[in-house]
Amino acid sequence: MLQFASLVKKYKNHLAVDGLSFTVNPGEIVGLLGPNGAGKTTAIRCAVGILRPTDGAIYVCGYNVEDSPSEAKSRLAFVPELPALYELLTVNEHLRFIAMCFRRLDLFERDGDLLLSRYDLLEKKDKLVATLSKGMRQKLAVACAFVHDAKVLVLDEPIIGVDPAGIAEMKKALFEARDSGCAVLVSTHQLDTAERLCNRVVILAKGKKVAEGTLDEIRAARGQGDATLEELFLQLTQEARDATPPVPL
Ligand code: ATP
Repeated sequence: MLQFASLVKKYKNHLAVDGLSFTVNPGEIVGLLGPNGAGKTTAIRCAVGILRPTDGAIYVCGYNVEDSPSEAKSRLAFVPELPALYELLTVNEHLRFIAMCFRRLDLFERDGDLLLSRYDLLEKKDKLVATLSKGMRQKLAVACAFVHDAKVLVLDEPIIGVDPAGIAEMKKALFEARDSGCAVLVSTHQLDTAERLCNRVVILAKGKKVAEGTLDEIRAARGQGDATLEELFLQLTQEARDATPPVPL
């Protein structure tokens, strides 16, 4: 389970995340949506231990990420927006190295080729990471997340630059992770993908949660029985913009 408990993150005087609370339960995929600058990446970076919260906390399987980082991180897999990969390893060495870090070399020795072929990387197995295209790098970053059997999966904009077959494989892998009891959080701007992929969504605007639930729950809360996710998203985020007083010149 992944739990955001009143998370606040400030960059100097800028409040990027403002009291964010929600939970991703085992066996569900939650979409984290919001316009540019809403605070999605900041919230995710706090969740995976890259940024320290200003206030509040995040729990991975009950472990506070700040107080018990090893316990939390060993149960978590993260695919960042811009994957930082080891350029001078081969694709196979890279995955092997990640498996070693998580003490899952046995699993990788057994299932490594399956993982490589699933992400269309088998042919590139012995190529240096530095020679991969943008989309292949993204596929490798996603494959790294599946090297160890994480209980919580966090993906920040995972489908940018990935071809349709890669996106289909990724969705399949995320559904499998969900069905095996993983808690999955995905940030995306692709509302149609979110609608098809996610059990629930959390919509952020200006660092605050402006909606949470299934599409039907958000429709019901707004009294708009047949609105699309796009229509609801645009209304909610516009309302958040309108509610913010203009910055004095
Ligand atoms: P996008 O969809 O464009 O990726 P986002 O929802 O992920 O946006 P964040 O990257 O979390 O948004 O940014 C939230 C706010 O915090 C923005 O106003 C951004 O300018 C600001 N911000 C992000 N990183 C920093 C930083 N290192 N220093 C100062 N401000 C930052």
